[in-house]
Amino acid sequence: MNHDLVIIGAGPGGYIAAIRAAQLGLNVACIEKERMLGGTCLRVGCIPSKALLESSELYKEAEHTFKDRGINVGSLSLDLEKMLSQKNRTVKTMGGGIDSLFKKNKITRYSGHATITAPGKVSVNNGDETTELEAKYILIATGSEPSTLPGIELDGDRVGTSTEALSYEQVPKHLVVIGGGVIGLELGAVWSRLGAKVTVLEYLDRILPTTDLEIAKEAQKIFEKQGIEFQLGCRVTGVKANKKTCDVEIADAKSIRCDRVLVAVGRRPNTDNLGLEEIGIALDKRGFIPVDAHYETAVKGIFAIGDVIGGAMLAHKAEDEGVAFSERLVTGYGHVNYDAIPSVAYTNPEIAAVGKTEEQLKEEGIEYRKGVFPFIANGRARAMGQTEGKVKMLADKQTDRVLGVHILGPRAGDLIAECAVAMEFGASSEDIARCCHAHPTLAEAVKEAALAVDKRALNF
Ligand code: FAD
Ligand code: NAD
Repeated sequence: MNHDLVIIGAGPGGYIAAIRAAQLGLNVACIEKERMLGGTCLRVGCIPSKALLESSELYKEAEHTFKDRGINVGSLSLDLEKMLSQKNRTVKTMGGGIDSLFKKNKITRYSGHATITAPGKVSVNNGDETTELEAKYILIATGSEPSTLPGIELDGDRVGTSTEALSYEQVPKHLVVIGGGVIGLELGAVWSRLGAKVTVLEYLDRILPTTDLEIAKEAQKIFEKQGIEFQLGCRVTGVKANKKTCDVEIADAKSIRCDRVLVAVGRRPNTDNLGLEEIGIALDKRGFIPVDAHYETAVKGIFAIGDVIGGAMLAHKAEDEGVAFSERLVTGYGHVNYDAIPSVAYTNPEIAAVGKTEEQLKEEGIEYRKGVFPFIANGRARAMGQTEGKVKMLADKQTDRVLGVHILGPRAGDLIAECAVAMEFGASSEDIARCCHAHPTLAEAVKEAALAVDKRALNF
């Protein structure tokens, strides 16, 4: 079969690149080894985790918050099976949606494992038969999979990764999470809200290593108040799984007995059996595929985007690379501004950021001014009863250009969009402060933080 473009992997990077290339008139094929399109993000990542975060938060609110507001719901009970079905239904429906998008855009889908056999040649094996494809261009968008640690054998049951933690059939009594990154905190929060004791073991002396330190420290205090335990500076040396329990062994500390272990220590690029070495594509030290500014690998005509090339392992980063790749291929132009990619941890409160942290600015010797506005002084947050956290804006001392925004608070993930747009347009804090923000909204906290950069916040 001949195509203009063959894409390997139908995650957010691959399927979005496929749609954009098809819109631009290319004859596109996309190969996916899993039955469902959508990649890690849809199958076992963003979407199922957010479904569970939403459900578990509603449960927690019904248990604690409703009464304070005069809403009596009678006796409360948890039907975990139903909660998991809602999550599965959401994923399935969205998977069907991508199938329809492929049909609408006339993208040919191949099912099976893809291997690049030569520049312009890909073979697809679905277990029964092999199909040979030819293409002018090949795009690798094979994503990533969970990493593990030496001394830990994942048994897909008691000792598992995020994939298992999205489908526990019973609420664990005691869940030990190894890794205080985004996955550990999001999925730790889910099971803690549903009744598990949750202990997070983190190797560093802080959680969320890429988050602004002040924000990460404040978030940790809030999560501790919610009942999650943290052990920082903690080196896990192994996990022993027994019949009904596990023992998590820690260097220089007592081991912890629990009934489930979630290993969330990062993800590694997915390049197994792709044929890269054979065609002359060497991986970097951490296993990522090196690419140039236009996502081209060492072999002409073969490109790569998304988690498999490293950088922020985020769905929207992969998507934007997919669009930039396809547009560049067809039109000659395509660009991703890596300085304005937002990130969000969907905990409660949410943690969102765009641009540089205060530590990065100090390290790079960039002089800045800082504006902070706490949600406790925001009318909408008060009305919602969600007053924890703050907006912190960092702007260049000389030019006032916004360099970074860090938000811990209700709907931080939505609020950060305004800040990313502002940064993309090269806005100053003054620009944001002079934009009219509706009252009463949480977004007013962003405006007030912008005013605070110039020490003229109005409500604090
Ligand atoms: P992937 O989504 O990993 O897709 C790659 C696809 O390629 C897979 O479907 C795989 O089966 C297929 N494939 C691999 N090799 C082959 C082969 N040889 N042949 C055929 N097919 C192949 N990011 C966010 O931005 N927001 C979130 O809220 C968020 N939550 C997450 C929660 C969890 C629990 C996890 C694990 C991740 C989360 N992420 C989130 C990260 C996000 O899922 C990834 O950054 C994103 O999926 C990367 O997209 P991708 O297209 O590069 O790769
Ligand atoms: P991560 O890199 O965010 O965090 C891993 C944590 O594990 C780090 O804090 C690290 O210091 C710690 N760690 C590493 N080795 C350890 C050890 N031996 N003992 C104890 N702790 C150890 O990785 P993750 O949480 O697994 O997430 C993987 C990727 O998925 C991330 O890059 C993230 O961007 C993406 N993701 C994003 C979202 C989101 O955007 N909301 C949600 C989930 C996952």
